[in-house]
Amino acid sequence: MKGLYVHIPFCESICHYCDFVKRVPKNEQMIDDYLQRLTQEIASYSTHFSNIDTIYIGGGTPSMLSAKQLSVLFHALKDIHPVEYTIEVNPESYTEEKGELFKYYRINRVSLGVQTFDQDLLSYLNRKHTIDNVLRVIHHLKDLGIPRLSIDLIYAIPGQTLNMLDHDLAMIEKLGITHVSCYSLILEEKTYFYHQYLKGQFHQMDEDMEALMYERVMKTLKQQGFEHYEISNFAKEGHQSMHNNLYWTLQEYIGVGLGAHGFVDGYRTYNHRHLPEYMHDWMERKEQQTEEMLLTDDLLFGLRRIEGIDIKKIEERYHISIFDKYPSLIEKMSLGLIEMKEGRLRLTREGLFLGNQVFMVFV
Ligand code: SF4
Repeated sequence: MKGLYVHIPFCESICHYCDFVKRVPKNEQMIDDYLQRLTQEIASYSTHFSNIDTIYIGGGTPSMLSAKQLSVLFHALKDIHPVEYTIEVNPESYTEEKGELFKYYRINRVSLGVQTFDQDLLSYLNRKHTIDNVLRVIHHLKDLGIPRLSIDLIYAIPGQTLNMLDHDLAMIEKLGITHVSCYSLILEEKTYFYHQYLKGQFHQMDEDMEALMYERVMKTLKQQGFEHYEISNFAKEGHQSMHNNLYWTLQEYIGVGLGAHGFVDGYRTYNHRHLPEYMHDWMERKEQQTEEMLLTDDLLFGLRRIEGIDIKKIEERYHISIFDKYPSLIEKMSLGLIEMKEGRLRLTREGLFLGNQVFMVFV
């Protein structure tokens, strides 16, 4: 399997928690120029087109491109025939015309940036959509027959209560969503919230409450028939994200666009994160991966998956004995953070909350 990630780094406004590679464009011309460069970068990978199984157009906010700009992008990708073709959509920038373009270009999965169904919390996060926007988009995508809908949710937002979270989770069921990515609000540097925090005006949610919320997310989504397949991801049967699974199982993917990463022919590729540099020469560097680097990634990504790591496969692939190489895994096991089950090493329920303590073993 091979994937293609396409980054659209533009947003209409900046959310208070966001540290992604993004900016508010100065004007339409800036987006047009970017697309011209991006389509050149896409074309430079044309020899890989026939092997690509997944495309993921993320951002930023891909849906803020005009229908004409989206057509330019989709046209550049038209010779690829992926099994899974995802685009990220923010509800406020969706139009029926754009949805019809998705359908025309055979996009079969939409990842919708909802974050919460509470209007006050949305304003607090500086998200610009309304709940009505979300409902309208979902109904239209369903009318079009786009088969796979994923929703992003955030929990542990200051001011959020368990009741509010319950409401968000109930909406998932009500709307018939088949995939949920659910992350706790992380305080990242260089964000508005971080500046507020430095001024003493942002107070993170208490850790116990955050753990309670994560527990509630896991329990409720399980009751709704979701499989918890990665620390922050839940899917109905047959609806796991192929593209994300490809990252987590160390398969190849091409990354195009500002700040995008890739993993091709044994090299990690890193594109420039600043627009003028990207426009000049998209790739900043590429780094051949050593066995040691691949092993670390295999373990870190593998443990994020709920099914964990097949120890025998890892030991054969890298010619190691995992507990000899990482003796502190024994300690994590005695702390109840990881367990061995049917030949697989995986996080326990406790370990899901404290994954970073386990991941530290490998870095
Ligand atoms: S829309 Fe997404 S990428 Fe843009 S600022 Fe908000 S969270 Fe960041």
